[in-house]
Amino acid sequence: MIIMEVENNIILAMDQMNVIEAYDLCETLSKYINTIKIGYPLTLSEGLESINVFKENFDFKIICDYKVADIPETNSKIAKLTFEAGADSLIVHGFVGSDSVEACINQAKVYDKEIFLLTEMSHPGAKMFLQNVADEIAKMGVDLGIKNYVAPSTRIARLSTIRNIVGDDSFIISPGVGTQGGDPKETLKYADALIIGRSIYESKDPELAIKEIIESIK
Ligand code: C5P
Repeated sequence: MIIMEVENNIILAMDQMNVIEAYDLCETLSKYINTIKIGYPLTLSEGLESINVFKENFDFKIICDYKVADIPETNSKIAKLTFEAGADSLIVHGFVGSDSVEACINQAKVYDKEIFLLTEMSHPGAKMFLQNVADEIAKMGVDLGIKNYVAPSTRIARLSTIRNIVGDDSFIISPGVGTQGGDPKETLKYADALIIGRSIYESKDPELAIKEIIESIK
């Protein structure tokens, strides 16, 4: 699996619901970033083919955050369609078990793409169920040979534990910085890249917002 080179250690989470708005933001920010994360809000509004708008015009690496969590056969179809649409990598839930995750790994191999294994989510509700099994999910990822993970910036102790489990040679991307409360510099002690959405795209001045974050992590 290819470990990503994320410019400025920032992955822009594009959760807008309008491709023109998303495009305009990318034009403003393309000199600071080379990787974006596209999720359901944009894809369900604008279609799977909208991924290509960002690949073709900006040459970004695209992480599709579809939090894939189905039976292996269905996961396999979701992964195939996502990679064929131009995604470079796909975020996959771990709680569904190794067979479902392996179905996505197998499709990633076919297309020479990557998956990220989601261990623990960043929102408060993740403490109810997912946190209790997150360490086991991370261990399963190690057993499956996965090198890319998603872990929360909102709970640094948990992020640190997950780093210990997956090892220093794994690549962790971490959401929850800014609006959800995570601190960029603290997070980068344990993670390789930050996933940041609203605190950039909802800012009155997204360029200033990203410049301030870049400054704060120097
Ligand atoms: O707007 P904000 O910076 O909070 O966006 C965080 C992004 O990361 C959202 O797209 C959210 O869906 C995603 N995410 C998360 N926690 C995870 C995995 C993904 O917040 N564990």
